Amino acid sequence: MFRLRKKVNCDHNATTPVSRSVRKAMLKILTSFQANPSTPYRDGRLAAQLVEGARQDLAAALNVGPDTIIFTSGATEANNHLRSIAPLMPSGRRSIIYNPMEHPAVLEPLRLLAEDSYKLIAAEPDRYGRIGVADLKRQWSDEIGLAVLMGANNETGTLYDLKAMAEFVHLNGAFLFSDLVQALGKTPLDLTDLGVDYASFSAHKIYGPKGVGALYVKTGAPFAPFMVGGGQENGRRAGTESLHNLAGLAAAARDIPVLLGKTSGLRQLKETFIEKISEFYPRVSFNTPPGSGSQPGTVSLTLPGLDNAFLLGQLDFHGISAAAGSACRTGENDPSHALTAIGLSPEAARSTLRLSFGHDFSPRELAYVLKIFKIILLGDEHKRITVLKPGDLTEDFLFQKDLTVIHIKRFPRFQGQKPLPGSRVTALADSSAWEELKPAGPLLLTCDAGYDAPIMAWRLRRRGFKNLSVLAFGLWGLKMTRPDFLARIEALSREEGNEHEP
Ligand code: PLP
Repeated sequence: MFRLRKKVNCDHNATTPVSRSVRKAMLKILTSFQANPSTPYRDGRLAAQLVEGARQDLAAALNVGPDTIIFTSGATEANNHLRSIAPLMPSGRRSIIYNPMEHPAVLEPLRLLAEDSYKLIAAEPDRYGRIGVADLKRQWSDEIGLAVLMGANNETGTLYDLKAMAEFVHLNGAFLFSDLVQALGKTPLDLTDLGVDYASFSAHKIYGPKGVGALYVKTGAPFAPFMVGGGQENGRRAGTESLHNLAGLAAAARDIPVLLGKTSGLRQLKETFIEKISEFYPRVSFNTPPGSGSQPGTVSLTLPGLDNAFLLGQLDFHGISAAAGSACRTGENDPSHALTAIGLSPEAARSTLRLSFGHDFSPRELAYVLKIFKIILLGDEHKRITVLKPGDLTEDFLFQKDLTVIHIKRFPRFQGQKPLPGSRVTALADSSAWEELKPAGPLLLTCDAGYDAPIMAWRLRRRGFKNLSVLAFGLWGLKMTRPDFLARIEALSREEGNEHEP
């Protein structure tokens, strides 16, 4: 009988699927609204009304006035306003205190401010990523004009007591900018009550479309635009409004109460996951604060001695999408900055996975996820693929007669590490590379940082490939640890005229 492969999305902190109500609202706009909201005729006026309606919907969800909402292309753009806001801080104060676990969309603008002679002070989170007023107090100086403190952390799920921190920051004459992307829809957010001065949001984390978000600016808080050009958003953010995206964002915002209604059930399922996995694999440890101190569906777990890149490939093989707690976008295998900030060693960070269950996560899905974790952690399935650490790679292995080496790039045009001599190069999403390969022959898969090769290896395993090896930590790891070996095999392959090249 034909059996569908099970798929469970456990990566909702990366993005959420577009909900039915969002899709409906967007389709309506895409099929019937063509006008530019800045135009004066009837359709333009209707489009402008739609933009204002979306503003009211989001403002109502946050319990603030609509004038405080500026639409942006997402939270990254909203966070980049740090660069235009920092110079407006009181009496030229040029120190900024921040949570070192912030998303790169916050850390990069801060880094640029530091290059412009701002002083950055990293707050010190505890083992679970928590920061409180006492921590701010300990590091506070009168030079601080801005505190940058997220509402929920995307990797550990830590939730922060922003109200208390906002009070402290204001008492000390400074402003508070908060990335609330991961808090929205997961914990009640009343911005008037919280008192933050600036906040950023993204629609695609609450079942809305990608490419749209908002910046909240409290009435009276200093503001200067980051995007300049036309006079849209009352002169505060230039660029023609993305009507269909705004319709989607508005629908997602209207559904926030529904999301919040599902959080306690979701939290219970997460607690069961934590309990069960601790039972059958007692070596596990958790980086997510216990109880209500974290997002309801996020769990960060460290599995000592296991490589998260390999685990991700194995989970993918079983239809489960999850995330590693390590940055892998740059082609370098740096351990996650958020995990090292809470005291994890680089090794522990590389053994850490993040699961983020969606609001509709079900007991059946949980049972499946637990079953697969049991197979992965207690079984011997992992032996089906050979993992070569950089130190394991030998000339004999690389120059064996039938070996095919495939180098996997995340994106076709990404300029990454130089592939091993004689490699075929393919993109992660491209299946043509293996179609003409013989499943019996030995195959070595490499990638830049060690994340994409295991994913591909498990996909090939599913297609019947048997003699599979992957290079752990990628070519970046090999370059870092064995530059001489790399130089030697390159020289050898030149001498041999790339004999083993396919
Ligand atoms: N801030 C946090 C905490 C996030 O998790 C993300 C998305 O991953 C962003 C900012 C960036 O949001 P966007 O994708 O809308 O630019």
